Order: sequence, then structure tokens, then C-alpha cells
Amino acid sequence: MSVSAPSAHDVCVIGGGVTGAGIARDLSLRGLSVLLLDKGDWGAGTTGSASWMIHGGPRYLEFDWDTTRSSCIDAGHIVTIAKNMVYRVVFVIPVLPHDKNNVERMETAMEVYDRFQPLKKAHPHVRLTGEEARQVEPGLAPDIVAAVTMEEWGVDPHRLVFANVQDAVAHGARALNHTRVVELLRDSGKVIGVKYRASDGSMSEARAKVVVNAAGPWAPEVARMAGGEVNLRPAKGIHIVYPHRISNFAISCESIDGRDLLMVSHAGFTLLGTTDDDFYGDLDSVDVFQDEVDYLLQAFERVFPSIRDYRPVRTTTGVRPTLFKWRRYEDQLSRRYEVIDHEGSGAPGFVTIAGGKLSMYRLMAEETSDLVCRKLGHQAPCTTATQPLPGNDADVEPAAEVARRHGISALAAMKAQTRHGTLADAVLEASRGGRMVCRCEPITEAELAHAARHEHVRTLADAFRRVGLAAGPCAGAACVLRASEIIGRELGWSASQRIEAARDFVRGAWLGRAPVIGQAGWAQEELAQGSMRGLR
Ligand SMILES: Cc1cc2nc3c(=O)[nH]c(=O)nc-3n(C[C@H](O)[C@H](O)[C@H](O)COP(=O)(O)OP(=O)(O)OC[C@H]3O[C@@H](n4cnc5c(N)ncnc54)[C@H](O)[C@@H]3O)c2cc1C
Repeated sequence: MSVSAPSAHDVCVIGGGVTGAGIARDLSLRGLSVLLLDKGDWGAGTTGSASWMIHGGPRYLEFDWDTTRSSCIDAGHIVTIAKNMVYRVVFVIPVLPHDKNNVERMETAMEVYDRFQPLKKAHPHVRLTGEEARQVEPGLAPDIVAAVTMEEWGVDPHRLVFANVQDAVAHGARALNHTRVVELLRDSGKVIGVKYRASDGSMSEARAKVVVNAAGPWAPEVARMAGGEVNLRPAKGIHIVYPHRISNFAISCESIDGRDLLMVSHAGFTLLGTTDDDFYGDLDSVDVFQDEVDYLLQAFERVFPSIRDYRPVRTTTGVRPTLFKWRRYEDQLSRRYEVIDHEGSGAPGFVTIAGGKLSMYRLMAEETSDLVCRKLGHQAPCTTATQPLPGNDADVEPAAEVARRHGISALAAMKAQTRHGTLADAVLEASRGGRMVCRCEPITEAELAHAARHEHVRTLADAFRRVGLAAGPCAGAACVLRASEIIGRELGWSASQRIEAARDFVRGAWLGRAPVIGQAGWAQEELAQGSMRGLR
């Protein structure tokens, strides 16, 4: 296979999760030329499977105070630069009579956490009696004796990643999704670039003065390409996804083995999670099992008895890139991160960032970029703590105004605003009198076409991440064919390519749905699969 002539950049970043996208943005804002590559789609790795929380992690206070502090400080920066994308999430943490933490212990922990809350513009806790807790959330169990509240922030991680990619590109970066790095180019040991394969199979090379490995749980695999070692203790987590809001409060509870779990509603859906288990399998094929679903439901029905009456629509799973440590319980592992300069291990020009979490991605990007700049002798300072992400430089208009102007529902306008901020108006411009793609998840045809044209959407799964295609109760049954037509028109797909894209999406979605499918689910599955059969 032929390899085209190499392009040349200051820096090549491998991995377009939140960390790599944050680094690409940081370096581009500092005036360096950047190439960002991801073997899948932006945020389709661990980032897309997160709980959608920008949080400080009060849990880490017990064993890793520094992480809670850095995380709260960076969360404060993130909610400032992404102000139109984030929203407050208020937790109710119920206490049952025999819980390991009684309400006094819970409240003491919250009093300590309250000291950190102003760092991320959040309010202090409130203590509630059992009765007060049930007044704010009637679904809570009758034997709850008390509760405390806690405030965090929510964000769509897919959009957060893409906003970073978008800004990097606006500042001169080249960003290619569906492009896998297969080899590092070396010159007497020094890493001088990458060899990569695009989705059409074509191979290319790119020269770079520094190559950054931001491959999340795949970081050890990428480091091995340079003969380097990165030691992780990867931990798998799953969520159950419900296609509606179950509560206006996030509710946390204790699992059978004493771990903290959460149920949190974001926009129009609810996540219930998450597990945290050592993972030794294939990172490219992570399955969700029925017993993991049962583990979550068993814990939740103690505090929210009706949880089994709700119909889940799918599951999500991802693997945390946790730094290696010999510890008994996975959830007691630190969420610290490490920036590794491989110069000392015979691979100058190569840097890895490993560990951390979404809530401090910006800080991780800043420290990695500082090291890259030192290596290049480049003096520009980091500006990402104050420079707003695209569409977040001013407040958005009232959604009702935008809705009226574009002839769409206020809900559709509001959803577009959380994705695009102040740019929503321009994105929706073409939808005057335009149609919705799906009745249950309000996306306009214009927004979907815009995503295909300007937001690197190459598959229907990319459209799920970019604009929430098929995220509603129909799970795609009512909208994937239509969506495939719209995207196909933009990308020049033939009629059979459009059908194949829809089939691919339905097959992929099935893998996430199987572990939570009940009787009604099988009926829906038959409908979704049946609607694809016989199409040519
Ligand atoms: C279940 C779960 C819930 C979580 N919830 C939260 C939360 O609510 N809040 C929070 O702060 N943190 C949370 N975390 C942690 C957080 O999601 C991760 O720490 C963070 O998203 C990691 O981002 P990343 O960019 O480092 O890795 P990733 O998102 O995995 O990105 C790495 C990218 O590298 C790409 N890649 C790999 N190899 C190659 C190659 N050879 N060529 C090109 N590209 C390559 C992959 O495709 C991938 O997209 C959660 C984690 C899990 C598992």
C-alpha cells in the first residue's frame, strides 16, 4: 500500500478523548501547529462513557485530598469556559437506618466538602429529615431517616470534547477522526512523527517535533510503539440508561460492597451507575453483563424502590485509565494523573499523559502542554482557564425566542443551545420551517446536516455523539433511516450505503441494549430490526 508524502507539525496528539482534545486546543491557542488523531470518533473512548459529571469527588477526600482540590479548582475553570454547556446537578444522598455512614458522619464529610465548593461555584450542603427528603423526591424509600444534599455540575462529554476540537481547528489545528496511529516514526530512537491509517485504508505519515500519547486506557499500547512503558490499572464501569428523567435530583446510594453509586438525570435521560472493576480484556470490545446491571439495580431499589418499573433503553461502558497501584478495592484508587517524558527511557520527542478524570481535563492538558512547550523552547502561556470555548463567550438568548424565530419547539431550541451555545442560532438558521428528524429526541434536520457538513460526522454513531441522534425513547427505530438520508445527502452516500449505515447503527445499538432488554424491549428490538429487513 502506498504512503503519501508526510505532513509536518510542531506536535501530533494521539487520542481525541477529552484529554487529547484539550491538549490540541491548548497548544493551538499557544500558536503551535497541531495534528490531532483518533482511531474512532471524538470522545468515543472512555470520555463518552462518563457519568456526565464535572465534579470534585468528595469520595476522594478520604484518601486523596489533592485530587479533590485540583479537581474542584479545574471544575471551576471548566464551568466558566463552557458556561452554556454546563448545568447544576443537585444530589440528594439518603441515609438508611443501617448504613455504614449515619447522618452525622455524612454531614461532617459534607462540611469538609463545602470548603471546596466555592472553587467550582457550587453551593454548600443542606441537611434534610427523612420526611423533607421524600417531599423533594417522593420516589425515595419510606425508611430513609435523613439525607444531605450536595451540588455538582453536569455536561455532555461528547460536546465538551468536540468544542475543544472545534476551537483547536479554529486556531489552525488539523483534526482527523477515524484515523488510527499504527506506528511511531523514529530517528536514532527519537520519535519524529507517526504513521496512520485513515478509515478508507489509506496510509499516511506526519512529522512532528513532539508526539503526545493521550490515548486514555490505550496509552500503554501506544507507549509500546516507542518501546516505552506506561503502567495503568484499567477499571471498567457501566451505566444503565433510561430514556427519560426519573428524578430532578441526582440520588446516590451504597452498593452491597459499600461503593458509592449514583442515579442522575441529564437533559431528557437518566444514567444509573457505575461499577468500577479491574479490567483485563480487550479494550476495543468491552461487553456489559447482566450481573453488572443486577448489581446496580439491587443497590438502587433500597433507596428508590420503583427503579425496576422503569424501562432502560441501553447501557454504556468504558474503561478508566487509572494509574497503577496495588490496592484492594478499585474504587479506592487515586484519580491522579501523570505526565511522562519518555526522553529518559530512550524515546526523546515522546510524551504520555495518563490517569486523571474528565473534571480536570483542562489542567491535565495545561501541564502536558507546558512540558511540550518547554521541549520546543516555546514561550507562550496557557490561556485555556479563561478563554471561553466556542459558543460560550456570552449568555444565550431565552430558548423561547430562538424557538419562535426558527419555528421549532422551545425544547428543541434549548437542546441546540446546550450543544452550540450562542452559535445555535446560526446552526438552526437553515431550519426555518424545517422538519424534526425524530419526534422523541428533538433534533432538526438542519442541525444534523450541519453536523455532517461541519462537525466531522462520518457515521450515524458519530451523529449520536454530536447531536443526540436516537438518544430518545424510540432508540432510533423512528429516525435512523431518515437520519441516514440526511447525512448521506451531505456526504454523498449511495442509496445502499445509506441503508447499510442505518443497519450498522442498529446492530451496534443492539450490543448496548441486550443486557437490559425485558419483554417489552424484545418487542421494540424486533420492530427496529424488522424495519431494516428487506431494505436494499
Ligand atoms: C463509567 C465511567 C464513568 C466516569 N464518569 C466520570 C465523570 O462523571 N466525571 C469525571 O470527571 N470522570 C469520569 N470518568 C473518568 C473519565 O471519563 C476519564 O478519566 C476521561 O474521560 C479519560 O479521557 P481520555 O481522553 O484520557 O481517554 P479517552 O476518552 O479514552 O480517549 C483516548 C482516545 O485515544 C484514542 N486512541 C487510542 N489508541 C489510538 C491510536 N492508536 N490512534 C489514534 N487514536 C487512538 C481512542 O480512540 C480514544 O478516543 C468516568 C469513567 C468511567 C469509565
